[in-house]
Amino acid sequence: MNRREFSHQALTLAIAPASLAAAARRTTPPTAADYYNEPPKKLPIRRFDVVVAGAGTAGVVAATAAARQGAKTALIEWKGYPGGTATEGGTALHSFYNLWKEFGVQKRQVVRGIAQEIIDRLLKVGGTSGHAEMSKGFNYDSVCTAIDTEMYKLVTFEMLDEAGVFVCVNTRLVDAVTDGSRVRAAVVESRSGREAFFAKSFVDCTAYGDLAAYAGADYTEPNDYAVCNSIGLANVDVDKYHDFISSNDAVTQLAAGLRSGRDAQTVRIDGSARKLLPEFAREAGRIGMSIVTTTVHDNYFMFIKINLKLPKSPTDRDTVAKAELELRKRQARAVRLFRKFVPGCEKAFIARTSPSLNIRRGRLITCDYDISHEDVIDARHFDDDVMAYGFHDSAPRYQIKNGGTYGIPYRALRVANIENLLAAGMMITSDRRAHMSTRNTVCCMGQGQAAGAAAALCAAKNCGTRDLKYPDLRDALAKAGVYFDS
Ligand SMILES: Cc1cc2nc3c(=O)[nH]c(=O)nc-3n(C[C@H](O)[C@H](O)[C@H](O)COP(=O)(O)OP(=O)(O)OC[C@H]3O[C@@H](n4cnc5c(N)ncnc54)[C@H](O)[C@@H]3O)c2cc1C
Repeated sequence: MNRREFSHQALTLAIAPASLAAAARRTTPPTAADYYNEPPKKLPIRRFDVVVAGAGTAGVVAATAAARQGAKTALIEWKGYPGGTATEGGTALHSFYNLWKEFGVQKRQVVRGIAQEIIDRLLKVGGTSGHAEMSKGFNYDSVCTAIDTEMYKLVTFEMLDEAGVFVCVNTRLVDAVTDGSRVRAAVVESRSGREAFFAKSFVDCTAYGDLAAYAGADYTEPNDYAVCNSIGLANVDVDKYHDFISSNDAVTQLAAGLRSGRDAQTVRIDGSARKLLPEFAREAGRIGMSIVTTTVHDNYFMFIKINLKLPKSPTDRDTVAKAELELRKRQARAVRLFRKFVPGCEKAFIARTSPSLNIRRGRLITCDYDISHEDVIDARHFDDDVMAYGFHDSAPRYQIKNGGTYGIPYRALRVANIENLLAAGMMITSDRRAHMSTRNTVCCMGQGQAAGAAAALCAAKNCGTRDLKYPDLRDALAKAGVYFDS
């Protein structure tokens, strides 16, 4: 899809729904009468060095890194809080460490920097399990870090504030102003109106690649994963859940860590639903429920995932609207299932859902380099590495050679054909097998730090992302605590 097609689609979704619905039912092509020409508007301007779009897993770290590098930084977030999919989607943060057991090599923490700082601050407020080592399961060879999702939102918000980031929550990125291959401004909308945020450098951390798409970048929409709306289930008993799964000889994953202030407690548990009661297993299958959960509290399952495969890309509004309803119906069925079958969950209730469904991939943005499956499993490093990463969600099927790490090269974050736009998070890496590694939270956080620091350096040097001297970026990242393995 190109920019014109995308802008046209965005407009047609946003206005005149009745006439467009009628147009969609007709077989004849739409005429001018089916459209409304939006009058041009004069927008107030704000000026920054760096604008980061999306305050999720990668964006929080990107904006913090840019501001700490001295850039006047704005962060645009649609929701009322930072955190993104890390606080809404999955089970735990994967992973700060390499996969070491399979190869009998040294266990190493390979992601540090701002990502680790978030965990350090969460530890102080009882908001994380700490780095909990898996003792069983397909990912037994790893460390998972469970978080209290609400504390994560607060801690990251405070860090952004302390770094001096101009945090615009409840503000949506709706367009981009471009000049040839350069992004001039991000157009944002909030209840204060529509504004143009001009900047020298931009970072897209929207997961959907909204800024890149508005700016005219090339992209595809693979729609190759299920979407999800996970629930936080409260008034439950984690130890009884553990007993329920283990008494059926069904435990597939286990990790122990800090929980409700005590160490060495179960903080992650998964089971083979097939081995549980047939009625439970059948219904879990019907509603797409994965029973893996992590927690940092005795009476709370932080995430129970309900998955759904969409017929169209999650950028399709009407497809998503149907899915939102279906997922909420299934969530209600999930609670009933837990209440009926799982000891300790008789009075369980939903304490948290995601405000909108979560995706594992939306748009795939074309960057200067596309990290391949071989790059990941052969543990390749590059002459422009910005971080090291050593976890694979498909282990042990796909393992990183010798329990080592691969590098994320700076060029993999540079949006192709655009001078001053970087991308970080789930929107990079086309090969699904490689994406099963790079899309993990901790990798996204590391990418965010690199992209934010690079954007700030580019702004300070008044240069495009391709003119930045790699030694300068590496030096800045190393000083900020980033670990390099090459
Ligand atoms: C169901 C599920 C389970 C997962 N399980 C795990 C797991 O166990 N371990 C693991 O490590 N990873 C897991 N992942 C993967 C990981 O969570 C994601 O890949 C990662 O968090 C993505 O980070 P991101 O920064 O790219 O996107 P996000 O964290 O989603 O951030 C995007 C942000 O941009 C904002 N935004 C979007 N569009 C706009 C706009 N137009 N204007 C303003 N703001 C906007 C969003 O509100 C959001 O805050 C899971 C993912 C899902 C969906």
